[in-house]
Amino acid sequence: RTVYVNGEYLPEDQASVSIFDRGFLMADGVYEVVSVLNGKLLDFDGHMARLQRSLAALEIANPLAENEYLDAHRALVDRNAISDGLVYLQVTRGNPGDRDFAYPSEDTPPTVVMFTQAKPGLADAPAATTGWKIVSVEDLRWGRRDIKTVQLLYPSMAKMEAKSRGADDAWLTEDGFVTEGTSNNAYIVKDGVIVTRELSHDILHGITRAAVLRFAAEAQMKVEERSFTIAEAQEADEAFVTSASAFVMPVVEIDGKPVGTGKVGAIATRLREIYLEESRKAAV
Ligand code: PLP
Repeated sequence: RTVYVNGEYLPEDQASVSIFDRGFLMADGVYEVVSVLNGKLLDFDGHMARLQRSLAALEIANPLAENEYLDAHRALVDRNAISDGLVYLQVTRGNPGDRDFAYPSEDTPPTVVMFTQAKPGLADAPAATTGWKIVSVEDLRWGRRDIKTVQLLYPSMAKMEAKSRGADDAWLTEDGFVTEGTSNNAYIVKDGVIVTRELSHDILHGITRAAVLRFAAEAQMKVEERSFTIAEAQEADEAFVTSASAFVMPVVEIDGKPVGTGKVGAIATRLREIYLEESRKAAV
């Protein structure tokens, strides 16, 4: 695989980053994941806009312009012959040459890393027709989940907890309400109304969420942005999650209880079709 590090394209075994990099020592960095279908990038502008917001929130100067990120994404997709897969992009505060809690001076350049992951058949995941099983896990993450930082230890622990309980993913709960999945936004559908938590510092502002809510509105579906509990989700007609790599993924079981009929729902399935169709059309 060819990867990108600070302007260079290198074989992955020749790419390196300093042990003093703030990303490595302090999780002081942000990331984005863009899906690739048929060699084209989905929702690219949305992901770049969020990258800019994440960097601004951490006062890291964006080292590249959007067209430079686009060129690099395309170069990696090309060089690695990715038809279906992902491009991972990470920007950290860089290498101050030593360890210190205070941010380094502004002449320390951020570290930019990009690599691809091939995922043949990404849009045809069998799970889309069988649905995911979810367990609830308390949300113990920090208070700025709207910043897409590389600080992923707690979601990783929650994912392992889900796996150990025979589930596909965890929905994180705080004060009795679902915040989001370990790496996706969470939704329920009751009496034809799609419900998903409102935007705040408590959740990541999903790029797929924004697109799906737009498509739902265009299809005259009703949407309510508000918090919901696990109990409400278990009584819902349908449930699903959204993310750049899972698109729209139905949820059929929550903490051992079937959601609705226990089969993938019609609204989730329809939204997945619309999302895939529309984002393929707009892909760059
Ligand atoms: N919420 C969290 C915590 C995530 O990590 C992600 C994606 O990685 C999402 C939601 C979904 O965001 P997006 O649709 O932009 O991929």
